[in-house]
Amino acid sequence: MTPPATPDPVPAALAPALAELRRALGADRVLAPGDAAAGFVRDERGLLPAHPAAVLRPRSTAEVAAAVSVCARHRVPVVPFAGGTGLVGGAIPLGEGTQVVLSVRELNRIRSVDVPDFALTAEAGCVVADVQRAAAEAGLLFPLRLASEGSCRIGGVVATNAGGSNVLRYGMTRELVLGLEAVLPDGRIWHGLRTLRKDNTGYDLKQLLIGSEGTLGVVTAATLRLFPRPRHRAVALLALPGLDVLPGLLALARELLEERLSALELFSRTGLGLVLAQLPSAKDPFDRPHPQYVLVEAIATRDGAALTAALEGLLAEAIEHGLAVDAVPALDAAQARALWALREALPEAEKRAGGAVKHDVSVPLGAIGAFIETAERAVAAACPGAVVNAFGHVGDGNVHFNVLSGEGSSAVVHRLVGEFDGSVSAEHGIGVLKREALAATRSPVELALLRTVKDALDPQGIMNPGKLLEESTAD
Ligand SMILES: Cc1cc2nc3c(=O)[nH]c(=O)nc-3n(C[C@H](O)[C@H](O)[C@H](O)COP(=O)(O)OP(=O)(O)OC[C@H]3O[C@@H](n4cnc5c(N)ncnc54)[C@H](O)[C@@H]3O)c2cc1C
Repeated sequence: MTPPATPDPVPAALAPALAELRRALGADRVLAPGDAAAGFVRDERGLLPAHPAAVLRPRSTAEVAAAVSVCARHRVPVVPFAGGTGLVGGAIPLGEGTQVVLSVRELNRIRSVDVPDFALTAEAGCVVADVQRAAAEAGLLFPLRLASEGSCRIGGVVATNAGGSNVLRYGMTRELVLGLEAVLPDGRIWHGLRTLRKDNTGYDLKQLLIGSEGTLGVVTAATLRLFPRPRHRAVALLALPGLDVLPGLLALARELLEERLSALELFSRTGLGLVLAQLPSAKDPFDRPHPQYVLVEAIATRDGAALTAALEGLLAEAIEHGLAVDAVPALDAAQARALWALREALPEAEKRAGGAVKHDVSVPLGAIGAFIETAERAVAAACPGAVVNAFGHVGDGNVHFNVLSGEGSSAVVHRLVGEFDGSVSAEHGIGVLKREALAATRSPVELALLRTVKDALDPQGIMNPGKLLEESTAD
């Protein structure tokens, strides 16, 4: 029989704050450390231990404000927590029972769907897939599409400025948010839920909060942009002779498919090999191996025949100009799903093959091929036996440069990202795991500006301290 879990000890200094939180929210809304850690707070990648002082579960914006006010008065650090699918440890409390986790999961109402304004307002705890469904029920599209959409929540995707496989067509979360409601680090509520497309009134406060990873306040609701629902989809897989054709292929795809181009996903023979070896249901669509592959998707609200013709035109021209050596168009929805499955199975296949050191980086569009080749050579020299599995959303310069048996590869990869004027985090954010990489690749001026913003909005440093930036030492 398993012995009953012993709660982690809570520092005595926190006891008055926790008593006040229980009074403000109700005792059942303040989970004690033992239950809390077990049931709620777990690092998605299993890299970081979690020892929260408590988990708070407010049910409304007013309750979030009440909880944050108490924490501010007692100077107790608050870690906002939504779906817990973040990959850089941003929602995991640091230290041994000194930080409280504030879950927004109970704030889970879709407040409104505004069809004439192409907008939807959702609370921070709404699961992204539920928001997609609510938009679809109104005949519209919420286009954020990512593999974690069944678990990640609006507060989390706003706080991390999440992207995914539709970024090329619709942009990252930054482009999808029209307005926000948030609780500031002193407990005040900022009511910024607006549906305006044009609002030229000085600093854009919502953009400060988007991507701030819980360090500037707790997002409680967001007004999101909706779009007409595409009714037609055309998908194909191209086999490439090498990486040097990427800029030409991207330019041709942009020209022929225009705004209908919705995804351009690159993966290598190494990646496809992992998928074929690890997932028995997967089939190679080509009769021989090729060094690189690109999956192209185009979508349209009308005229499916014209869409198919445009994609077929792209395949023919790409082969004619030597940008591709072979191509497989999906003839129906099942074939389209099977081609997408090859791309989407890459992370799972990598995991089954023993896992990889992950680098979620971006470089300028024209430099993707040169970056991958240079980094592959540098990693091979620095980490003998390492296997690079580079794949990504090549239409927006995002490369998942993952290295199997790649201990020690991060320093090499991040140095090259700097040399290519890229970013050490294209999608997943900084959290705690990329903090040093950020500090190493951004100028002192830029880091000082980030610190100025943090200190201005959160002078006590209670909002997710130690994430994105080093914990402030100033008192
Ligand atoms: C299988 C898988 C696939 C993924 N694919 C992608 C992808 O394609 N693109 C991509 O960008 N990411 C991807 N991710 C990463 C992750 O899903 C995203 O970062 C997502 O936005 C996190 O949302 P969450 O609700 O789980 O947030 P959490 O993990 O709970 O929190 C993430 C960060 O946001 C902060 N936060 C959470 N809620 C709030 C709030 N209400 N107010 C303020 N701060 C808050 C937390 O403190 C933390 O810093 C993937 C993850 C997995 C597991």
